[in-house]
Amino acid sequence: MTLLVDDVTLTYPDGDGRLTALDAVSLEVPAGSLTAIVGPSGSGKSSLLAVAATLVTPDSGRVVVAGRDTSLLGPAEKSALRRERIGIVFQQPNLLASLTAAEQLQVMAHVSGRPSRQLRRRALELLDAVGLADKAGKRPHELSGGQRQRVNIARALMNEPAVLLVDEPTSALDHERGAAVLDLLVTLTRERATATVLVTHDRAHLDRMDRTATMADGRLTAGAPAAAGPPSASVPAA
Ligand code: ADP
Ligand code: MG
Repeated sequence: MTLLVDDVTLTYPDGDGRLTALDAVSLEVPAGSLTAIVGPSGSGKSSLLAVAATLVTPDSGRVVVAGRDTSLLGPAEKSALRRERIGIVFQQPNLLASLTAAEQLQVMAHVSGRPSRQLRRRALELLDAVGLADKAGKRPHELSGGQRQRVNIARALMNEPAVLLVDEPTSALDHERGAAVLDLLVTLTRERATATVLVTHDRAHLDRMDRTATMADGRLTAGAPAAAGPPSASVPAA
């Protein structure tokens, strides 16, 4: 199993008590497969990605990434594991205004110590894979929202991650562009054999995902909510 989240509970301080963001959550994601996570705002989806990314340490439970139990690693080892094995795509692309699309990817992998000509070749290959072969020299202000999100995704793949974690990549896009980005994530997951977790509001393409799970009040259950009706109708009562 490339990504294993095993019985993870995460709480945050909340006034005098604690708020349970993740309540005994388990998730297994094999290489080359994509699991979509849906659920209402505030249900714990981003918290789950933060724990899977080893950015946040849970109160209990374990996260195993590419065979390594991250609960046994120190901060420096975790940060090296993140750099080498985990690709993270946040909601907002956070591209650097002064860099071209190709350079956004190259700086990402700068620390890996590979020769710059090789990094450049990989950057161009990935931009091609996300449909931006002709935009390598463009800066963020010259790209559309959908194109910026594609650069963001390509950048997360620069270090050939085993695990790809994607948080609501289509929230700022219209339906058509959003659908194209989800399509792209499915294709990249197969081609690059990543264990991909996708948090999404967009239910239109859930049938293309390998698995769907629903988050509600910090609990994760297998399966999609009922397709018909408003989102609130499909959330189990607390
Ligand atoms: P989602 O991504 O599904 O909207 P989040 O994982 O962001 O949900 O949040 C889950 C719950 O944890 C919410 O009640 C949120 O307010 C709370 N929360 C998230 N991050 C923090 C934090 N850093 N400190 C305190 N509470 C937080
Ligand atoms: Mg969120």
